[in-house]
Amino acid sequence: MFDSLSEKLDKALHVLKGHGQITEINVAETTKEVRRALLDADVNFKIAKEFTNRVKEKALGQNVLKTLQPGQLMVKIVKDELTELMGGDASGINLSGSPSVILMSGLQGSGKTTFSGKLANYLKKKKSKNPLLVACDVYRPAAIDQLHVVGDQIGVPVFSDRENQDPVSLAKAGVAHAKANGHNVVIIDTAGRLAVDEQMMTEIANIRDAVSPQETLFVVDSMTGQDAVNTAKAFNDVLDFDGVILTKLDGDTRGGAAISIKSVVNKPIKFIGTGEKMEAIDVFYPARMADRILG
Ligand code: GDP
Repeated sequence: MFDSLSEKLDKALHVLKGHGQITEINVAETTKEVRRALLDADVNFKIAKEFTNRVKEKALGQNVLKTLQPGQLMVKIVKDELTELMGGDASGINLSGSPSVILMSGLQGSGKTTFSGKLANYLKKKKSKNPLLVACDVYRPAAIDQLHVVGDQIGVPVFSDRENQDPVSLAKAGVAHAKANGHNVVIIDTAGRLAVDEQMMTEIANIRDAVSPQETLFVVDSMTGQDAVNTAKAFNDVLDFDGVILTKLDGDTRGGAAISIKSVVNKPIKFIGTGEKMEAIDVFYPARMADRILG
């Protein structure tokens, strides 16, 4: 993951990581290289520029050139800024409701159904919750089947009603079913389209208004680069969601979208998906990710 970005940043910081002499010129050159590496990794132009400006300012402010190990300090500055750019601290998930309702949004194929299962499994195993999955995709019967397969795999019940074609009433019925059956978490998997469209946005906004979720999460395929950022913006404009789930970070992704999304929508990345298996879920730790990127 993030291999090409890591490699490039590594190259950019190479001079500084060694104990060679550091001059103002190679600090400037290094920040330029860092910026190029970010741009190559699909990081939004404006964000990359602001990022490197901040790094340069900090480096000058902390008098990097006068310290004993300027290279290491420079690497630390880049790492800290990268961590900040991705959200600073890890942000938790709000489970204060009874039951806590978690609404999934995102395009078709982004990994919503898979992630719904992963999250249910995680909350069951790590947080001792008793989740219920709710199938709200009324357009694709296969999507309902898929959620049932996932539910069977992890031993979590799935609420569905193939006769009901109204996703809003389905979602409400799912929450009512959870209440009646002692489930303290409800995860609602919704329909996704291949592209952002008005009907889809209206539908998910209506579901949200009907069930008042503690968490509305936006699921996005990290392999889709800048498109991921645009989709995130479109969903956030309508839903004002609470957090982002980045899926497919196990793939050959350049990872820049991960860095840009947080800055563009100003919402935390909460979890990442790192594979197709139900266990392939991780809490997103910005500092850990920055470490990984910088190697
Ligand atoms: P949905 O249409 O948004 O519900 O997407 P799905 O959950 O059906 O996922 C679409 C495809 O992506 C499926 O083949 C999943 O197995 C795959 N997938 C989902 N999450 C991940 C992930 O984190 N890594 C990888 N490699 N594949 C994933």
